Amino acid sequence: MRHLYIHVPFCQRRCTYCDFSIAVRKRIPARGYVDAVLQEVDLVQRTAVASDDGLDTIYLGGGTPSLLASEAIERLLHDLALRLRTPHSAPRTAVEVTLEANPEDVTPESARAWRAAGVNRVSLGAQSFDDRVLQWMHRSHDAARIGAAVHALKDAGLENISLDLIFALPEELKRDWERDLDMALSLKPSHLSLYGLTVEPRTPLDRWISRGAARPPTDERYAEEYLFAHRRLAADGFEFYEVSNAALHGFISRHNSTYWSGSPYLGLGPAAHSFDGRARRWNLSAWEAYRRAIAEGRSPVESEEVLTDEQRELEGAYLSLRTVEGLPRSACPPDRLTAWLGAGWVEVIGDRIRCTAEGWLRLDALVAKLFSTKGLSPS
Ligand code: SF4
Repeated sequence: MRHLYIHVPFCQRRCTYCDFSIAVRKRIPARGYVDAVLQEVDLVQRTAVASDDGLDTIYLGGGTPSLLASEAIERLLHDLALRLRTPHSAPRTAVEVTLEANPEDVTPESARAWRAAGVNRVSLGAQSFDDRVLQWMHRSHDAARIGAAVHALKDAGLENISLDLIFALPEELKRDWERDLDMALSLKPSHLSLYGLTVEPRTPLDRWISRGAARPPTDERYAEEYLFAHRRLAADGFEFYEVSNAALHGFISRHNSTYWSGSPYLGLGPAAHSFDGRARRWNLSAWEAYRRAIAEGRSPVESEEVLTDEQRELEGAYLSLRTVEGLPRSACPPDRLTAWLGAGWVEVIGDRIRCTAEGWLRLDALVAKLFSTKGLSPS
């Protein structure tokens, strides 16, 4: 295992659209959380250990990892390094260490402390630069905090900054997507993650839509804003290296790229998933259930599935087509390839085919067609 994901489940409130596994808490049990994760490492190490080369990436995701006190993050990373043989002799930046943060948690002090703890990449949940929209999303920051957070991070020497933005919001919000992209780019991030709003069951947004208080986002708006983002970001030197992620040269997320390449990774914390190349397993999702299992010395793994060769092939094809790596040309029947090239949905680069922006808009449909050609179902 060279890639480690740590799920920090705590949030101060639930955002309008979010169905993640979170624990809403006013007071964050940081010490208990770090103790539990470190105990989980000890449990895991009886069966799986980090590779001799040590870790390549660590990703603290959530939830809101930036809600943990800086000292807790420092202790977590320090003790993980001891347990998982992160190469101390190598420069700290050799390991990509990402922290997901909400803008309101970034201060000059926290930014300096995170850097000192070994964090070298921050993924900031910006979402929009319009205060009205942020309030609608139930975000706990305003637009001004985003710029302040980016400046604090850069002043602390954290230059590798990614901004998350959500697009395809309901029409009635009259969100100015072009302005939001301009505002984001003016902060000179090195990476952007753009997610189209989806209506997940049992979220506040789902309930609003059910009772007619909001309208669902439309496919037209999704396509228009997605394609606009491709043009706008390209003008500033960004390349989409995955359907939702764009980076300046040299700034792709090494950690997230492991998911799309099918590499093994280890997940720690409630709801975290792990993959060893064949089996996928996931932890109990509720914080209290996870904490209890660890305290009693039991495995927090809730369940696992072992992928068949066929499933791995299908999943591999789907993941490849999500990225600029694309698929070997031979994986696509010639008549289908001709049709897709004609429609502008794919392009051929050497002996591989990869999706264009128009193709990524139809990713699920393209993959389904590819699989049905083989008489297989993608699900
Ligand atoms: S901060 Fe992130 S994880 Fe927490 S509720 Fe909002 S979207 Fe979900």
